[in-house]
Amino acid sequence: MGEGLRMQDVIIIGGGAAGLTAAIYAVRAGMDVFVLEKMGVGGQIILTDTVENYPGFSHISGPDLMDKFEEHVKKFGVEIRYEEVKKIKTNARTEKTTEKTTHTVVTEEGDYETIAVIVATGSQPRKLRVPGEDKFIGRGVSYCAVCDGPFFKDKEVAVIGGGDAAIKESIYLTQIVKKVTVVHRRDQLRAEKILQDQAFDNPKMDFIWDHMVESVDGGDSFEGITVQNVQNPQAKMRMSVDGVFVYIGHIPNTKFIDGEKTTAGTLLTNPCTLETSIRGIFAAGDCRDTCLRQIATCVGDGALAAFNAGEYVEKYKSGHL
Ligand code: NAP
Repeated sequence: MGEGLRMQDVIIIGGGAAGLTAAIYAVRAGMDVFVLEKMGVGGQIILTDTVENYPGFSHISGPDLMDKFEEHVKKFGVEIRYEEVKKIKTNARTEKTTEKTTHTVVTEEGDYETIAVIVATGSQPRKLRVPGEDKFIGRGVSYCAVCDGPFFKDKEVAVIGGGDAAIKESIYLTQIVKKVTVVHRRDQLRAEKILQDQAFDNPKMDFIWDHMVESVDGGDSFEGITVQNVQNPQAKMRMSVDGVFVYIGHIPNTKFIDGEKTTAGTLLTNPCTLETSIRGIFAAGDCRDTCLRQIATCVGDGALAAFNAGEYVEKYKSGHL
């Protein structure tokens, strides 16, 4: 066992909105808790230019909002350790032993034993999985408009997808680039109405309906994309854009954990407690099976998971499990 010789009450995996909220609730409930984060705190939200639907902030940048979350967590003295979790081993009670179930969280740095775990690992951008995509990542293909948009000043780009992220980030890109062409696989957007209205009113935005990307093209350098009609795949079209931004959803970061999952890989949880199918392991935010993925819902999840993890820890300690 690494530094974690002492049994923790709760370990939170993930330092996005759900994990940081869980940390605040857990420490205020008197639990011995720390957060394990793979890279940097903030999660997907730090890739967002502006947030306009988180109560209390009519307009704030994603990074600024998450700085406030981090500041808040640190004010309560919760440690954030930068370690990637490889596995959670559940040390289940057996008939031969009176030992209670605990969990060992395994990272590259060591093992940590804990009574409860809150998995708040979020998700990562889904890739197109077409020829040329990997070759041009960072050289024409991007998954983050805030990070890479400035490289395309006054140029023409395509955005793939029709959800909130695709449309929101397209609108953001119009502040930088000359033209944004949204390529969507259906003939109507999935994005919320207010974003659709803004997009359709934006003179720098154009739409190609019923098309999907077939390939990302170029020799030594990026030259554009080829799209094909979903109804008639023979009908292909070459788009000579300077860059392509992909916003076609996310894949949950749940590979390291056992437990029941949907086919999409999101963790199934009890709707009241957010406990997964493994006793003592709770899930919060985008990594769990939920019908709405917003900062507000991640915050709600974090609070609920921490509250229920706290109840679980109390029962564990008082022998009522
Ligand atoms: P999403 O809502 O799942 O939308 C993904 C989009 O990509 C859909 O339009 C989908 O098409 C399309 N798509 C999926 N696979 C594709 C493929 N292989 N090729 C081409 N197109 C494909 O994902 P998201 O936009 O990333 O949003 C994720 C969550 O975050 C959502 O709950 C969203 O509401 C939330 N979010 C909210 C905001 C906000 O400002 N409120 C901003 C960003 C994200 P179909 O429509 O045909 O399925």
